Amino acid sequence: MNPLLSRRSVLAAGAVAAVEVLTSHPALAAPRKRRVVVWSEGTAPKNVYPHDINGAVAEGLKPLKDKGWEIVTATLTDPEQGVPAASLKKTDVLIWWGHMRHGNITNEHVKLIVDRVKKGGMGFIALHSAHFSKPLKALLGTNCGWKGGYVEDGSKLNMIVKDKNHPIAQGISDFSLPHTERYTEPFEIPEPESVVFDGQYIRPDGSKESSRQGFAWTVGKGRVFYFQPGHETYPIFFDANVRKLLCNAVEWAGKSA
Ligand code: ZN
Repeated sequence: MNPLLSRRSVLAAGAVAAVEVLTSHPALAAPRKRRVVVWSEGTAPKNVYPHDINGAVAEGLKPLKDKGWEIVTATLTDPEQGVPAASLKKTDVLIWWGHMRHGNITNEHVKLIVDRVKKGGMGFIALHSAHFSKPLKALLGTNCGWKGGYVEDGSKLNMIVKDKNHPIAQGISDFSLPHTERYTEPFEIPEPESVVFDGQYIRPDGSKESSRQGFAWTVGKGRVFYFQPGHETYPIFFDANVRKLLCNAVEWAGKSA
C-alpha cells in the first residue's frame, strides 16, 4: 500500500467528518441574526421615559429575540450620530423617534439611511414626531406635515384596525390610548399602500375627530411604516398593544421588496 495515499484518504475522511459536525450543529448552522436599531434623539422627559424613547421601544421588542432578532439602541450623541455606515450595512430595520433635533442630522447620514432603504432593502419605521424627520421626508418625497395642526390636550385615542389582513395588524384588535397628542389631517404624504390603523380622537369636551394612525409604503427595495402615536409626555411606548404592533412592524419591515 502506498503510505502517502492512505494518509491522504485518512485526511479526506477527517474532512468529511468535520463538515458533518459543522452542518449538524444547530448553533453553527443557524442563520445570521436579524438586527433592529432603535434610534431616538435623547430629549424625552426622564419622568416618563427614564431610558428615553429608544429604551422603552427596545424593551417592548424583547419578544423578537426568540425569533432571531438582535435589538440595539442608538442615539444622536453616539459616534456618527448613532447611524455609522458600518452599522447601517448590517441593520435590517431602523426605528426613528425625533422631535427637537431633526435639524442636527447631517445630510450625509440622511443619504446613508435613504440609500440603505432604497437599494439595500432596510426597513424604516418612523414614530410620532419623526413625521418631520429628514430621513422620512427624504424617503417619501413630500413635506410630511399634518396640515390641520398639533394639539396636546390629552385627548383619548381610539385605535381602529383598518387593514385587518396586514401583517402589522395580526393579533391586534381595536384598542384605546387614554391620552395622546392630536395630529390633525390632512397629512402631506404620498398615497400609502395601506392605512393599517385608523383613529378617532375623543377631545376633552367630548367631541370627536378622525385621524389616520398607521401607514405603510414600499420605497425602492425597502419597507416604510409611520406610526402616529408616541408623544413624549405620555407613556405610549409602554402600552402592550403598541409594543405588540411594533414587533409586527419590525418583522414586516425586515422583509425587503
Ligand atoms: Zn408630540
